[in-house]
Formats: sequence, C-alpha cells, structure tokens
Amino acid sequence: MNLRSHAFQSPASFERPIYLDHHATTPVDPRVAARMFAVMADDFGNPNDRGHFFGEQAGNAIEDARVAVAALVSSAPQHVAFVRSATVAFNVLIDHLVARYSRGRRLRAAATTVEHHAVLDALGRKSQLGEIDLRLLEVDCSGRLDLDLVAGCLNDGCDVLFVMAANNEVGTIYPIQKIAELARDREAALVVDASQAAASLRFNVDGWGPSYLILSSHKMYGPKGVAALISNGDRHLPIAEIEALEGTPNVPAIAGFGEACTICATDMDSDTARIRSLRDRLQSRLTGAISGLHVNGDVSARLPNNLHVSVPGVPNDAVLARLFRSVAISTGSACRAGVDEPSHVLRAMNLESELIDGALRIGLGRGTTADDVDQAGQLITEAINSIRALEAVEG
Ligand code: PLP
Repeated sequence: MNLRSHAFQSPASFERPIYLDHHATTPVDPRVAARMFAVMADDFGNPNDRGHFFGEQAGNAIEDARVAVAALVSSAPQHVAFVRSATVAFNVLIDHLVARYSRGRRLRAAATTVEHHAVLDALGRKSQLGEIDLRLLEVDCSGRLDLDLVAGCLNDGCDVLFVMAANNEVGTIYPIQKIAELARDREAALVVDASQAAASLRFNVDGWGPSYLILSSHKMYGPKGVAALISNGDRHLPIAEIEALEGTPNVPAIAGFGEACTICATDMDSDTARIRSLRDRLQSRLTGAISGLHVNGDVSARLPNNLHVSVPGVPNDAVLARLFRSVAISTGSACRAGVDEPSHVLRAMNLESELIDGALRIGLGRGTTADDVDQAGQLITEAINSIRALEAVEG
C-alpha cells in the first residue's frame, strides 16, 4: 500500500479542493498512517491484559508513544495522560482542579476571552454550578494579552489561570514562558492549551513550568480520537484513573500520536520556515489583489501557518459557498446547536461587525505547496470580486 499517494494527493479521477483549513484539523501524515497500520496489524493485543506477549506488545506501543509525546514538549513520560480529545482533557482537568485547589472555598479561575469553546464552556458550566469564581481576561484588537492584567489577576488571588499558547482563529501567540513565571511567583496553576501551537512552537514544560499542557493529536498530523493531558509533576493528578475512564485504549491512535510528535520534533524548523514563507506569499497576493483587505491577529507574533483576513462588505459565507469545490477555508464562526454564531474570538477583539462578517480563516499545512497557494490566492480573489460585482449591480 502506498500511503503517501493517499494522504497528500487527490485521486486522478476526482480533483479535490485545495485544503487550507489546517486549524480545524490536519491530514494524517503518511508516516503516522504507516505506524498506525503496523500497530493495528501487529500490536493488536489488549494493553489492559499484559499477561501474555500480545498485551505486552500493545502496552509497549503505548509507552513508546508516551515517551515521544513527553520528548516533544520536554516533559517526563510519567506525567502524560492519554485521553480521547483535548475537550475531554479540559473537562477532566477542571474537575481535578476544583477538587485540588479549592482550599475550602470556591476555586478562583481566570481565562482569556479568546480561549477555545472547549475551555470556556467547561469553565462556564462550573461557574454556573457555583463551583468556581470565573474571571475573564480581555485581549486587545490583535488578540494580545496585557501581562500587567495577568499579573494583577494573579495578585488578586487567582488559583488557576488558563491561557492558550496560540489562538486557533487569528493565530496570535501568547508569551507562555513569561506567564508561567508570573504564575509560579504567585503560586497559581497555569493551564496551557497548546492544541494549535504544538506543531509549530517548541515548549519546555520542565524548564518553563506551566502546571499543565494539553495537546490534540489531530491538530498535529496525527489521528483523531487522542489527546494528551500533561502535568508538570502534579502528584495528585490520577493519571491511571483518568486513562482507565477511556476503557480499552485506542492503541493505534495513541501510537500514531506518538509518531506525529516525533515527526514534529524532527521536522518543526524546516516545516515552519517553509509554511511561513508560503503564508507570506499568499498574504501579499491577497493584499495586493483585494482592496480593503484587513489582516487580523498579531502579525508580529502569529502562528506561521495562520492567515486570518477580513474583507469588509463581503459576507464570508458567500465567499465559502463560491469556493466550496475549489478551496477549503473557514469563517472561524462556531456552529453550535445547529446555529452559526459569530466568532467569540473576533467579538472579544472588539472588531467592527463588518470585519467579523467578512472574516476568513486560512490555515496552511505540511502538505501545502506553492502551487496550492498561488491557485488559492487566485480563486479567493475571484470569489470576492464576483461578490463585489454582484453587490455593485444590485446597488
Ligand atoms: N483547543 C483549541 C485551541 C482547538 O483549536 C481545539 C479544536 O478545535 C480544541 C482545543 C479542542 O480539541 P479536540 O478536538 O481535541 O477536542
């Protein structure tokens, strides 16, 4: 089986759209798929039953993956818990934090207003139940967080702070090392959502000291259905119990996640340099071709694969509809309970409604080529021009 021909190329009979939505999910790297296939075929035993060779082999595959995940973020394997998604990791962790840090009163938690819904929803539920006091930390119009605001919040007695490493919509990168220092000085826990960042940025959990770091395999060219909750040596985090809740482990997915982490560790510098230059090329093509186009996020500290733009007066859903068969990009707005909500991130950045309605999130990735970028630039420009032409006719 030639895995490579499946992963990054389209079958000749069907020209698939250019995939530029890598913040939503990444294609599984062929090397990861090969590892998963080998584990499925050979290491099929039940790792919860290690009384014979097959169970032992499957258990070893999990432990190898734990070593690989820990190595990517400079942590220790025994501090890595595998769960089925980052969303589950946050829910499990927040339950643990409420039990551990409350000290006979309500837990004081704080989070940025631009955290992922997985975090904000879990914290919001706890707040509604009266189990935590929740403070939300505002960001500026580029999604940046003021470190004085963070220090002030910690000085006010915050027990646990949630800050993402990089935003999944506008790509703004947060100074996690500095925030971890602030939190450590005030003896507060810091929870870092590195789901979007771990394929592009290096982390040093042991050295920087965030209390917890969360990774999601399917954002890192690994399979869906597995994520890691990593602690910085929290002796009370019941890793075995947390993993037991998952039942029989998904060994191929965990092994694939481990392989994805090893590939990220090895290829990160060359991948990010190449992807950044393609992103810059696409950005300059779009800004050159589309009048009034606005680039969102912190352009001086942004994920290398992120290009988030707004075209005022051009509704983003109309652009996506025109591109449906040619280029896969996203509006970034959330679809919850079947209703499209405007992005909470862009609202938190206080962008004008025209910029929110015209927002397009473009996410490049490992398989993106210069040709993809040039074609996508052309197709996106044509889609926007055709909407503008129609609007001009309709007056
Ligand atoms: N955090 C961020 C920043 C994300 O982008 C996502 C997924 O979109 C999640 C958390 C949730 O990850 P998962 O799909 O593993 O639950």
